[in-house]
Amino acid sequence: MTTLQTMIDQLCAAGANPQAAIQNSLQETGKPAVGCFPLFVPEELVYAAGFLPVGLWGGISTFQKSNQYIQSFACSIMRANLELGMSGTYDFLKAALIPSQCDTLKCVCENFKVAVPKVPVIGVTIPQNRTIQAAHGQLLDEFDYLSQALAKVQTPDCQPMPLEEAFAIYEDYRAVMMDFVDTVPDYLNTIPPKVRHLILKAAWFMDKKVYTEKMRTLLSLLKAQPKEAFSGKKFLVTGIMLDALPVLDLLEELHVAVVDDLLCHESMQFRTPTRETGTVESKLAYRFLDLKGASPLYEPKKPRGSQLAQLAKARGADAVYFCLMKFCDPEAFDYPLVKKDLDAAGVPLLSVEHDQLVESTQQLRTRIQGFLEINLS
Ligand code: SF4
Repeated sequence: MTTLQTMIDQLCAAGANPQAAIQNSLQETGKPAVGCFPLFVPEELVYAAGFLPVGLWGGISTFQKSNQYIQSFACSIMRANLELGMSGTYDFLKAALIPSQCDTLKCVCENFKVAVPKVPVIGVTIPQNRTIQAAHGQLLDEFDYLSQALAKVQTPDCQPMPLEEAFAIYEDYRAVMMDFVDTVPDYLNTIPPKVRHLILKAAWFMDKKVYTEKMRTLLSLLKAQPKEAFSGKKFLVTGIMLDALPVLDLLEELHVAVVDDLLCHESMQFRTPTRETGTVESKLAYRFLDLKGASPLYEPKKPRGSQLAQLAKARGADAVYFCLMKFCDPEAFDYPLVKKDLDAAGVPLLSVEHDQLVESTQQLRTRIQGFLEINLS
């Protein structure tokens, strides 16, 4: 019998062991894989071309080979991706989609071509100014280009489908994910920070159709439980990603729950509502053009601070945890604006700078404990 704990364990195991999860998905689906770099790429095009899209969000913290291509003061996600590529971990990929959403990504796209010749790079050029009508047209042209580039790396194992069908699978996935994110605040004891993160992370390594079905089962089992009272403090987390398991363990140990996130790696992948009218290509373009609150994307009024304040209120969050990725300029530029808006709204803010992977949490423990005592007791 499938129990809630079985589903949680299955998905957490997939999130915690990317290589094994990808191997399982390759075997299960029989599809070849295409890698998707952060932050936002139109995965639906990859899926429609018959590939298994796989998220490439780093995952290691020691760098040797990649140092000849990328400076040590670049974000650890991109350093890790280059290192993993150069050490052959990505050799199974038929291609890698690399977007151009920040200066580091623009350089990595070119560096990857030279440093990892076994994996063809498909650059994803995005409109920098998303507020003008031309941005929509540029994205439609870009989608044509990407579909043609993906067709060139297709193999007989690919299982292509119309874009409409792939988009519908992703719409279903997004609806279920938003349901999960909306449901977690009622079950903060069963879904502590690490569990929430690993469940969401697993989506990057599984076929979205398979993953969505598992999530549907998990959700129905979760909702069948009585709602839970939670006596600790509640954080809303924001940033590029919070993939550091010792930090998530520390939050749980300090009796802090994550009630929601504005993380590029997590809910920002599916949070933007899809427009109701237009062709499927147009809807896909607007999903990117309408996306709000991601630091590397151009937004004249920078609504992230007020977005966080509203979300904190809606979720009953006690504070915002700003997870500042080391050496990420877009995040560093956003921080003062977010702080100003949250101060004005009276929402306590804890900013912590760290790499993707954190080994020691001793100093962080003191900071979080101090923050909780000073601001939330
Ligand atoms: S936005 Fe920041 S974390 Fe993401 S690739 Fe660019 S520098 Fe790295």
